[in-house]
Amino acid sequence: MTHYLKKNIPLQALHTFGVEAFAEYYFDIHTLEDLDTILRNYPEIPKPVLCLGGGSNIIFRQHYAGTVLAMRLMGISIIEETDDTVTVRCAAGEQWHSLVEWTVNQGWSGIENLALIPGTCGAAPIQNIGAYGMEIKETIIAVEWYDFASGQKNIFTNEQCHFEYRDSIFKKELANKGIITAITLQLSKKPDIRTSYADIRRILEEKHITEPTVRTIFDAVVEIRTRKLPDPKEYGNAGSFFKNPVISIEHFRHLQQSYPEIPHYPIDDITVKVPTGWLIEKAGWKGFRRGDIGVSPKQALVLINYGKAHTEEIIALSNDIVQDIQQRFSITLEREVSII
Ligand code: NAP
Repeated sequence: MTHYLKKNIPLQALHTFGVEAFAEYYFDIHTLEDLDTILRNYPEIPKPVLCLGGGSNIIFRQHYAGTVLAMRLMGISIIEETDDTVTVRCAAGEQWHSLVEWTVNQGWSGIENLALIPGTCGAAPIQNIGAYGMEIKETIIAVEWYDFASGQKNIFTNEQCHFEYRDSIFKKELANKGIITAITLQLSKKPDIRTSYADIRRILEEKHITEPTVRTIFDAVVEIRTRKLPDPKEYGNAGSFFKNPVISIEHFRHLQQSYPEIPHYPIDDITVKVPTGWLIEKAGWKGFRRGDIGVSPKQALVLINYGKAHTEEIIALSNDIVQDIQQRFSITLEREVSII
């Protein structure tokens, strides 16, 4: 075994929100053998077992009375190439953005709109990451998953992952029962350029780009996200704190009478998606600060740790926002961030 059991490890630097917290037991997972050895040699390790990737979508309560497995499996390889496609396998510990950048550098298409999404490749399928009209479910062909109970490695096809909007089997039925060890994606050599989002079109217009490429879309997304989102290196945050709600057409029409400018995106004939950032900003929370916790002045969807925020303060502020949005718009916001 290359990496040994550690106890009472501080987690503050291991998640982007940066609250003070400790893990009772902790292992770095550098090889699949590490996983086998941990389960064989330490059957008594405290449960639950949590897999930590980039820590970009998680906030800890002060003490995690279980075992944290830090995903450090690395390696990217091309496993098949045809005239039209390239199949790439990527170990779970690789940074997602590095994978996107590498594929864009090769000129391959399929994940360029997903640039700068924080976190690891292993975390990406769990919530079916998506942005600017593209989702990882469109390119995933396999997910390798290690089952804690049996010690077996299972390979899930795309269909078996049960992908939905920001959701998958790994977030539901299989949550905390195993760990994703690698993903395999099929990328295209024939770009499928997606410019349906207004922010992307705006940047392309600003730069007078009339024939966008995989590279220019990637650059546009990087620029939008850098402008819009607070940098966790400056202030701790976990990206979007809430999901974007989907409401009925009737509900939306009713809201539109009071707020004719409300942005909306049809999902189907009976439902509409509305941006949470707009709701929170409209309710006056953008830039709000209470002690060391606040709502980003750049993007109302992001809560910020200005220094020594405690998880209880974060929960209290997010509950106040949820309650206010409920009262004003009759919409119940759901948290996207996991509080463990
Ligand atoms: P945004 O671009 O201001 O969009 C806000 C909301 O409006 C989102 O729900 C988005 O849907 C929807 N929307 C905007 N333009 C649309 C269009 N042309 N067609 C359909 N729906 C449209 O959102 P943002 O907060 O700045 O985030 C930018 C992108 O990054 C969004 O796609 C967002 O979902 C994504 N993001 C993903 C994650 C994640 O995977 N965990 C985290 C943060 C942000 P969609 O959500 O369906 O795109």
